[in-house]
Amino acid sequence: MLFDYHVHTAFSGDCSVPMEEIVVAAIRQGMQEICFTDHLDFDSTDGTDQFQFSASDYQVEVARLKDRYENKISIKAGVEVGLQPHVLEASSKFVRQGAFDFALGSMHGCERMDFYLGDFFSAYGTLEAIEHYYEEMFQMIATYKDYSVIGHLDIYKRYNPDSKRISLQSYDHLIEKVFKQVIADDKGIEINTSGLRGDLGEALPNWNIIEIYKELGGKVITLGSDSHGTGTLCANFEEVLRGLAQRGYKNVYRFDKMQPVETSINSLL
Ligand SMILES: [Zn+2]
Ligand SMILES: [Zn+2]
Repeated sequence: MLFDYHVHTAFSGDCSVPMEEIVVAAIRQGMQEICFTDHLDFDSTDGTDQFQFSASDYQVEVARLKDRYENKISIKAGVEVGLQPHVLEASSKFVRQGAFDFALGSMHGCERMDFYLGDFFSAYGTLEAIEHYYEEMFQMIATYKDYSVIGHLDIYKRYNPDSKRISLQSYDHLIEKVFKQVIADDKGIEINTSGLRGDLGEALPNWNIIEIYKELGGKVITLGSDSHGTGTLCANFEEVLRGLAQRGYKNVYRFDKMQPVETSINSLL
C-alpha cells in the first residue's frame, strides 16, 4: 500500500515514458496511488523551453487514465513548478488554472543560473552558494503560495558534492527561516528518495534537516521517488517511512485538489 508523489512522464522534457506505461507499472507493483508531477519551468535556467507542457492536454490524459484504470489505482494530477522570482506570477496562474491536486515547488537554479550546468556554484564559493539558495527560496515563499510542498530541499548537494563537507550549523538558521514560513502557511516538504539510489547515499533533504523541520513543528511530508521511468516507483520508501516513525512521525501526506490528506505511516508499513 504505497503512493508516490514525485513521478515524471513524457510530459516532462527529460522523460520519454508515456503516462499510461507508468500507470500500468504502478498497478503491477500494487501501488495504491500515483501523483504525476511533470516539470513546469518557465524561463528554464538551462536556456531551453523543454520543461513546459499544456495543462489542458495533461488533464485530458489524466482523466482518460483515471477512467480506464478506475478500480485499480488512484491517479492524481500534480506538477513540479521550477521556482524563480521573475516567473512566480505566471506559475501561480498555471497552477490555479490547471486544476491540479498537488504542486511541488522546486528550485533548479538560483539567481537565473543553473544547478545542473554548474554555473551557480562556480559563481560563488560553496557555502555562499547555499546561503544564496535559501535566501532566494525564502524571498519567494514569503509571497508565493501556490505550492503544496518544497521539492528536494537540499538539491545543491546533487550537483555540488563539496556541499556535504560544509557543516549544517553554518547555514541552519537559513533553513529554519524557510521552515518557519512553510509551517506558518500550512505547507510542507517532500522527502525525495532519488538520492538513495545513487552516490549521494541520502535522501533530499537528509535526516539532519528533517529533524530541524520536526523540532519546529513541521508536519506535512510527502514521499517522492523523482522517477523518470517505471523502475524506481516508490523506491526506498520503506526505509524512509521507518526513519520517520523512529523520529516520532505518525503520518505522511497525500493531496487532493491541493488539500493535504493525512495518512498513517503504520498503515503503509
Ligand atoms: Zn526537480
Ligand atoms: Zn522531478
